[in-house]
Amino acid sequence: MTRIADLLRERRTLSFEFFPPKTDEAAVALEGAIAELDELNPSFVSVTYGAGGSTRERTRDVVIDIERDLGITAMAHLTCVAHTRAELSSLLDEYNAAGVENILALAGDPVLDDSGLVIDGEFSRAVELVELIAQRGQFSIGVAAHPEGHPRSPDLASDRRHLATKLEAADFAITQFFFEPEPYLRMIEELAALGCTKPVLPGIMPVTNVGQVTRFAQLAGAAFPVHLAARFEALADDPAGVRALGVELATELCQRLLDEGAPGLHFYTLNRSTATREIARSLAFQP
Ligand SMILES: Cc1cc2nc3c(=O)[nH]c(=O)nc-3n(C[C@H](O)[C@H](O)[C@H](O)COP(=O)(O)OP(=O)(O)OC[C@H]3O[C@@H](n4cnc5c(N)ncnc54)[C@H](O)[C@@H]3O)c2cc1C
Repeated sequence: MTRIADLLRERRTLSFEFFPPKTDEAAVALEGAIAELDELNPSFVSVTYGAGGSTRERTRDVVIDIERDLGITAMAHLTCVAHTRAELSSLLDEYNAAGVENILALAGDPVLDDSGLVIDGEFSRAVELVELIAQRGQFSIGVAAHPEGHPRSPDLASDRRHLATKLEAADFAITQFFFEPEPYLRMIEELAALGCTKPVLPGIMPVTNVGQVTRFAQLAGAAFPVHLAARFEALADDPAGVRALGVELATELCQRLLDEGAPGLHFYTLNRSTATREIARSLAFQP
């Protein structure tokens, strides 16, 4: 059993994010990806949660299997919108009983009912979930950070103020993915100016397929820089070339972040291992 807050006090961390599989075939693929990535000796791995509870049982089962059966420190993502306090509390109690000590506290995107109306719950902000988790057990608590601002934030200054308040109540943050170091480095400076120096792990998404990253970046509010897009477009008919360029650029990004003092690296794996392994292996970095 390991608390991520304690790991971050001792050394830099290496972590991988997965989503819970929907089919037996996807479950086998995930098992393979975890086994291959485990060779890199990750500090922890995390498993996403469908806002409103759409993956409630699947997320819980995968997290508990990883923690108990594989002996790898696991962090459960948990979103609070469209949930009641009782629903969230009972899931937290299950994690507590199973020895899962790390939770990523998120608001989640608004959840709609069949007529397109937002389903209300007892919570609307991640900071409220952080408070509940802290009351419910000895969890180490992470929160989400958006280097380029959350898409619903009216401006960057208010985004940073809310992030600083939320992060002060938690132990660490993990960022949305980004493609150049500046937005992350600026955010760290802006948080420090607000008096918040808790560790913020950069989230890394290796580009293996240009269309997919452009789509995700639009959803996440992360700019895909024009000069990088042009380099990928020049390789449009060469999938192996796109992958190789994606690995090269992500490796450069990671190295710069480590050189600038990032407390670790968190990879969005999309349940695949190859690109992440190539990047992590070529970095002079041991968690
Ligand atoms: C590392 C990471 C992992 C994620 N994992 C998941 C996942 O597993 N499942 C999932 O569904 N989603 C996930 N998300 C996405 C996340 O749920 C969405 O981005 C969601 O819209 C916002 O969540 P949050 O926790 O950042 O919200 P919050 O911190 O509550 O912020 C949401 C917005 O409200 C604003 N705000 C906060 N407090 C206040 C206040 N007091 N007054 C006014 N405005 C305020 C913020 O500035 C921001 O614009 C993840 C995101 C990241 C970065």
